[in-house]
Amino acid sequence: MTISERVVERRQDYDGTSPFPEAAEHAPAGRLQVALTGAIVVLPFIALGAAVFWWGVTFTDLLLAAILYVVTGLGVTVGFHRLLTHSSFTARPWLRAVLAVTGSMGFQGNVIDWVAVHRRHHAFTDRPGDPHSPYRYGTGLRGQLRGLAHAHLGWLFADDPTPAERYAPDLLADRAMSRVARAFPALCALSLALPFLAGWAITGTLLGGLTAFLWAGLIRIALLQHVTWSVNSVCHVIGARPFKTRRHDRSTNLWPLALLSFGESWHNGHHSEPSCARHGLDRYQLDPSAAVIGLFERLGWAGNVHWPDQKRIHRRRAGPLRQTHAPAGE
Ligand SMILES: [Zn+2]
Ligand SMILES: [Zn+2]
Repeated sequence: MTISERVVERRQDYDGTSPFPEAAEHAPAGRLQVALTGAIVVLPFIALGAAVFWWGVTFTDLLLAAILYVVTGLGVTVGFHRLLTHSSFTARPWLRAVLAVTGSMGFQGNVIDWVAVHRRHHAFTDRPGDPHSPYRYGTGLRGQLRGLAHAHLGWLFADDPTPAERYAPDLLADRAMSRVARAFPALCALSLALPFLAGWAITGTLLGGLTAFLWAGLIRIALLQHVTWSVNSVCHVIGARPFKTRRHDRSTNLWPLALLSFGESWHNGHHSEPSCARHGLDRYQLDPSAAVIGLFERLGWAGNVHWPDQKRIHRRRAGPLRQTHAPAGE
């Protein structure tokens, strides 16, 4: 029996608490991927230290950082996630391309790979095959802590490719998306160059360009990445599980991250109704991405929006609010 046959066999009798079979066969990624990912993870913290201790921060830096955070963040949540991964609405071709471009500027991988990995996460949530589950090393305390680190960041350093041919054939066949995916390195460079040029133009000094590069470039990218990664890690461990999900799926709703994640931290609602355009399924659950999709719909730029169906939501409700570590699944 080959390794992959053994993995498939053990996937089927996964008990919800043991380490995943592939955890033992964990292989690190190639040196180039490790070096590049390491640089992307570590450099912003060096930048943060330098920015805080030597130059401080100006209103211009913070304004540019906020604008770019919102534009690239919505590119990821509305574009990469709700439109391209889950087809929770349709968009005019130009809007689809704009969202794919701004999402790419979030430094989270090219659009086709991002979608493929995320669809695989939904196909195998919190069981063997999930590319970033905090339950990979089991549910004991040590395994859980190690799993959280893996789900947050460690998985980026692992050699665990997700074939786009299998998970995102629709995007591979889409010429505009293939073009945006090929432009990913250039779009990353643009994501760093824009704040530098804007800071330089607004202040008229090179130092102004440099501090804008640090705050609205590196630090803004790092903040968005850690918020996105927290949805993968913390939002499968801590928080409420008001809605039923598939067996083993332990996704949670975590309100403190709702604003910074543009509504993505209503993650239990999302895993319960993955194609729904709104993740905050309950009243008063702040979901800025859903508000933006609603705006696109009113402007006539988006259509076929899958808004929550109250009868379905009612059926998905799991009863009294449950915290995690209650038995997962239906
Ligand atoms: Zn998830
Ligand atoms: Zn999703």
